[in-house]
Amino acid sequence: MKIHEYQAKDILAKYGVAVPRGEVANTLDEALEVAKRLFAEGAKGVVVKAQIHAGGRGKGGGVKVAKTLEEAEQYAKQILGMQLITHQTGPQGQKVQRLLIEETAAIDRELYLGIVLDRAAAKLVFMASQAGGMEIEEVAARDPKAIHKAYIDPAVGFQPYQARELAFALGLKPTQINDAVKFMMGLYKAYMDTDSSLLEINPFITTKDDKLFALDCKINFDDNAMFRHKDLKELRDIAEEDPLEVEASKYALNYIKLDGNIACMVNGAGLAMATMDIIQYAGGMPANFLDVGGGANQQQIEAAFAILLADKAVQAIFINIFGGILRVDVLATAVVAAAKKLNVTLPIILRLEGTNVEEGRKILQESGLKFQVGSTMKEAAELVVAAAKRQ
Ligand code: GDP
Ligand code: MN
Repeated sequence: MKIHEYQAKDILAKYGVAVPRGEVANTLDEALEVAKRLFAEGAKGVVVKAQIHAGGRGKGGGVKVAKTLEEAEQYAKQILGMQLITHQTGPQGQKVQRLLIEETAAIDRELYLGIVLDRAAAKLVFMASQAGGMEIEEVAARDPKAIHKAYIDPAVGFQPYQARELAFALGLKPTQINDAVKFMMGLYKAYMDTDSSLLEINPFITTKDDKLFALDCKINFDDNAMFRHKDLKELRDIAEEDPLEVEASKYALNYIKLDGNIACMVNGAGLAMATMDIIQYAGGMPANFLDVGGGANQQQIEAAFAILLADKAVQAIFINIFGGILRVDVLATAVVAAAKKLNVTLPIILRLEGTNVEEGRKILQESGLKFQVGSTMKEAAELVVAAAKRQ
């Protein structure tokens, strides 16, 4: 689950991590009120920042520094409601519905800090780089040595000596080292307490008067841990998410929209990945990733069908099920019911194996609906690719 920068900064503040003074604004009036207050409190300028769930806002024109209240008004007008396009939004962009208005900082250096899980090492890794402000992926590709890493032993957690090493690698002044260590320990604690999957401060800045601030912050939470964070769950902003993915989440379906025209309905994430691969191998393009889970019921299968059909790009449906906990006959009954109820006219190709597969095939045959069943996964993939081409 992703959250906005302003929400992430609220979390950081609770962990003693310094963030600039500022507040979120949902309307132009609110934005002006916040800007007015910051100026009254002595701010030399304010920065108007688009709040969307994507990075690269600065380059896309979604971050502007204003020296006066008039300038702030002009930028707020310009950014609020705009369709902001960044390298992470895709060409259609994302509508800006909120702004963060913050006091500007007198930036000396722009650095980078980040915590992620390194799956290969099976450990969290704390990263620090002097090349902050820009796209860290680019830095990693061009000059991997510019990113310093501290691997975190899960048994003991992130240690102050590791934070000190990273602080020195950032070339911080001796007077900044202790503050930087506290800053990093705070980030680690925030990451752990919130069950994050990613926490990034880019840029992590030093100011002309030697202070440290998180000027930007991105936090993603581990969806599978959200059940134990009711408060964090409320930070979700569904206006930022794909409407079909929001609908899928209501039925506990793991759905991710993709660009192709072959809809996939699969049980199990591994099989879903293999299904997308084999569709491409057969010359087609999957329209989505969809894992209906091990124990899907009739209601979920119907919801899954409705979601797949709502994607106008879809021209054929590939149902690939290995009956385990979800028995094939139960699945077949649900598919037949859903196809009748939703009046599905698109070609449906199935590949079925596992528990009660014979009963399942019989239910499909006797349904009177036109399904094609592939005898192997490869054959089914070829059938569905051919069917999509014919549409
Ligand atoms: P992103 O582009 O989505 O990552 O948004 P950021 O919050 O990182 O902002 C992009 C850039 O805007 C930063 O790297 C800074 O150079 C600049 N910026 C952000 N806030 C301030 C500020 O308070 N003062 C100044 N001078 N520049 C800022
Ligand atoms: Mn940034």
